[in-house]
Amino acid sequence: MGYIDLSIRVEILKRPHVREAKLWKPVEGRDGWIECYLCHRRCLIAPGKYGVCGVRLNIDGKLYTMVYGLLTAVNIDPIEKKPLMHYYPASSVLSIATVGCNFFCKFCQNWEISQSRLEKGLMGVQFTPDRIVELAIAYDAQGITYTYNEPTIFYEFLEDTAKLAHKKGLFNTMVTNGYMTPETVDQLGNLMDAATVDFKGGGSVEFYNKIMNVRDPDKIYETLIAMRDKGWWIEITNLVVPKYGDEEAHIRKMARWILENLSPETPFHLLRFHPDYKLTDIPWTPVATLEKLAKIAINEGLKHVYIGNVPGHPLEHTYCPNCGYKVIERYGFMVTDYKLTQDGRCPRCKYKLNIRGQYIGKSIGYPIPIV
Ligand code: SF4
Repeated sequence: MGYIDLSIRVEILKRPHVREAKLWKPVEGRDGWIECYLCHRRCLIAPGKYGVCGVRLNIDGKLYTMVYGLLTAVNIDPIEKKPLMHYYPASSVLSIATVGCNFFCKFCQNWEISQSRLEKGLMGVQFTPDRIVELAIAYDAQGITYTYNEPTIFYEFLEDTAKLAHKKGLFNTMVTNGYMTPETVDQLGNLMDAATVDFKGGGSVEFYNKIMNVRDPDKIYETLIAMRDKGWWIEITNLVVPKYGDEEAHIRKMARWILENLSPETPFHLLRFHPDYKLTDIPWTPVATLEKLAKIAINEGLKHVYIGNVPGHPLEHTYCPNCGYKVIERYGFMVTDYKLTQDGRCPRCKYKLNIRGQYIGKSIGYPIPIV
């Protein structure tokens, strides 16, 4: 955990991106120390220090977020980019991010923002929740997605924006590593409508320890249960990293867990790895590996298994689990054909598919940067 010189505390506290944080408590018996329970790191933070995510600072025994509305990305994205394949298909979302993250993935493709820490200086453009919601409406987005870096760590801005988004008829989704605590899920409650929960390396403890500096990935399953119980729409992804994180046994275990605890129709995405950040000596995941793992998940009983980051692959499409008819056709992030009936049934056998929200049909297929 890093240290900040608090001799300029008065000036720091005046900055618009500094706000008192939520989800923390004082540590008994340790004067001025704080426990942050926003994520499973549950950092114990001394005065003048900040937590592992690099953006939550203890000033005189109170925890402050340093990134309230200080955004590093504001884009319009197709919802399929999240990926959410069964939630308001072909809608668009306004995506936002800050700096900081509670993970240290050696392959992070957004490492410039995720691995930035307070002592390196904060970056971003200041926004308010109102402005974000206004922009979403102006760009004809149907929802807001909290994404790119781990959204849990900018919780306070997320919560305020999500409230306002709901008031204006927009939905909220997040792309998360799933390491937030069940208390955080509880606090968010029905403000969050959908989550893409990203596993890496099959959720293997060894992979998380060595490649991501995360101690206990099994905690993610506790969080998933909390999300399920709140009624959030859930899609699960797993990044398949050649050599380090592509074991069949891990995919089998994950598929079984989804079957037993979520649903056979929960969308499950196997994502292709590409070399980035500190893991540039590993090649792209062979498509044959993704196909082999997809077959395992399908044989275990999952009905909607997708292969991601391989545009044009047959497992980008949605097939009816009952008769096998191709009901949604995609290319990359774009929906190219949508055949389901208005009430979400297969036109051939009338089976009702597991889709939440109506088809929007405004697929843009690529991100549009606003900031
Ligand atoms: S959100 Fe940040 S400060 Fe809080 S527990 Fe997680 S890593 Fe630590």
